[in-house]
Amino acid sequence: MSDYSTWYINSHGSTVNIVQINKTVYRIENMTQLETMSERPPLRFWGWGYDSEQLSEEEDTLIDAMVQMLIPEGGVEVSPPQVEDFDLPAPRLPVPEQFQSYVSTTQYDRLVHSYGKSYADMLRMFLRDVQHAPDWVAFPKSESDISDIIKYAEAHNMAVIPFGGGTSVCGGVEADVGEQYVATISLDLQHFNRILEVDTKSRTALIEGGMLGPDLEAGLKEYGYTLRHFPQSFRFSTLGGWIATRAGGHFATLYTHIDDFVESTRVVTPSGVMESRRLPGSGAGPSPDRMVIGSEGTLGVITQAWVRLQQRPIWKVSATVTFSTMKQGVEAVRLISQAGLFPSNCRLLDEMEVQWNGLADKACAMLVLGFESADHPVNAAMDRALAIASNAGGEYQSEEVVYASEKPAPEKTSETGADTWRNAFIRMPYYRNKLIGRGIIADTFETAITWDKFESLYTGVKAGIQKAIVELTGAEGMVSCRFTHIYPDGPAPYFTFFLVGDTTGDLQEVLNKWRTIKAVANELVISLGGTATHHHAIGRDHRSGYEQQTSDLFRHAFAAAKAALDPQGIFNPGVLIDPQGKSVGITGIMKDKQ
Ligand SMILES: Cc1cc2nc3c(=O)[nH]c(=O)nc-3n(C[C@H](O)[C@H](O)[C@H](O)COP(=O)(O)OP(=O)(O)OC[C@H]3O[C@@H](n4cnc5c(N)ncnc54)[C@H](O)[C@@H]3O)c2cc1C
Repeated sequence: MSDYSTWYINSHGSTVNIVQINKTVYRIENMTQLETMSERPPLRFWGWGYDSEQLSEEEDTLIDAMVQMLIPEGGVEVSPPQVEDFDLPAPRLPVPEQFQSYVSTTQYDRLVHSYGKSYADMLRMFLRDVQHAPDWVAFPKSESDISDIIKYAEAHNMAVIPFGGGTSVCGGVEADVGEQYVATISLDLQHFNRILEVDTKSRTALIEGGMLGPDLEAGLKEYGYTLRHFPQSFRFSTLGGWIATRAGGHFATLYTHIDDFVESTRVVTPSGVMESRRLPGSGAGPSPDRMVIGSEGTLGVITQAWVRLQQRPIWKVSATVTFSTMKQGVEAVRLISQAGLFPSNCRLLDEMEVQWNGLADKACAMLVLGFESADHPVNAAMDRALAIASNAGGEYQSEEVVYASEKPAPEKTSETGADTWRNAFIRMPYYRNKLIGRGIIADTFETAITWDKFESLYTGVKAGIQKAIVELTGAEGMVSCRFTHIYPDGPAPYFTFFLVGDTTGDLQEVLNKWRTIKAVANELVISLGGTATHHHAIGRDHRSGYEQQTSDLFRHAFAAAKAALDPQGIFNPGVLIDPQGKSVGITGIMKDKQ
């Protein structure tokens, strides 16, 4: 909204880019001008962030120290790629006159839209390995532009891949669509970026699908509301992308998933526009919205949605509890989740997660607890949760529990363990930009599981990944776990792993190792009773797990529904299911791996 980006050549003949992102102005000199039709500040095509963003000096020092610890002998650093390092094949179909004002074929635009932001996506960029760049990148400005593109794509057998912010971590936007399409189109929704209407009485808003998180929140703030959906990728992801992937926000319980916020949807499909009625709830048969939520770009383009808003919370309380074992912490969280308390934060970190983040000076598991409300004090809920945690063996310092009384929470004077962890969490994707070139593998995967099976999943996954790391590298590496979300019937565990893939600059070797570990992770979460994904979506990379956890009958029914909306199967082939009559199978980075 308020962001802008301008370029000029200075008096020394070098290129200067002035960019404003969220009220901060950046000035970058000596950059190659990026040829683009995008009207957003240019994204870093090979990594996380805008092209103009840099790490602070302190962060640079922190990462150097981390690398030094992992690779004391030094090692080779591969530098990030430049646009000129790539020589993409010419688009397989030329752009006809009718689309020339909003379809780009520049190398930069095709690179930005070639991958999402998974570890493997970024690593392949460092390898200068892009085999499925979309032939066209379309920036439609209206639904009729989208319909025109769809008609052309159907007539010329082109696959269409909706693109929101491009933060997919499961191959969801990669144009690897198998052999049965003549060419591919990445359909960038960036011009669908407005709040169209706010119904203050029902506390809902009609918002376009391509609106980025910060713009959406800034717009709603003017009305005193918030969507309060904060995935870690919030800054670069969109409402349509959240809906298409069933995204999970930052909060641990209650209204945190995008599913909870969607009141109705509008989707442009090859068979026409499908729109649902705005209703607070309905028992009228299977829900049309439930089919759209999680459709991952396979049914059409989500151009608009009515979403439920909230007031900004002012009553807040937070606390940190330590446990001498993870097992004690798990029991405490299970009891809290079943007590009807609904904490906004209930993040249990295992011993390894605490140690790696330097959050305590003893070996322990840590529970970061928080309650929030816009309407009433939440002290009693916190007191009850702390009592449950204490009974389960937890320890906390009562003077470190931060209560807000009748006013908004007081400004904190010092950083708590929870703050340190949260800051590192938000900045971690930027740090990865630097770790990749050093051959360090730092990645995450997540699942959800019922409480009865959690213990065996937790120990099985940690042991299995650890074993794979030792077999691949001879060294131990690191595997840790935390809970991102909790439910009365089970948690959503989120695993992080770190290892040195290679120190000689052989990033292909690093990719091979990553693929082996990813295949082990995919297999373990399914075989031990979890879901292939809790909130990262299926995309191409988790498709084998999706096929194991769903029945053939369900997938046939879904394929038949897709055929009604997308009869020629042009929308995001390779994701979730095969279009009827086309066998695309597993494509993307996990092809041939499981
Ligand atoms: C560092 C990092 C942190 C992350 N943290 C979280 C997190 O906390 N919670 C979480 O849930 N996810 C997280 N993700 C994953 C990712 O951000 C989510 O899947 C997000 O919802 C994707 O939104 P997007 O706008 O970037 O969509 P894209 O990546 O552009 O697309 C994702 C999928 O949705 C489809 N799609 C996108 N827009 C539309 C549309 N308008 N209509 C139809 N289909 C569409 C695409 O075709 C693709 O299949 C994270 C990713 C990264 C890299």
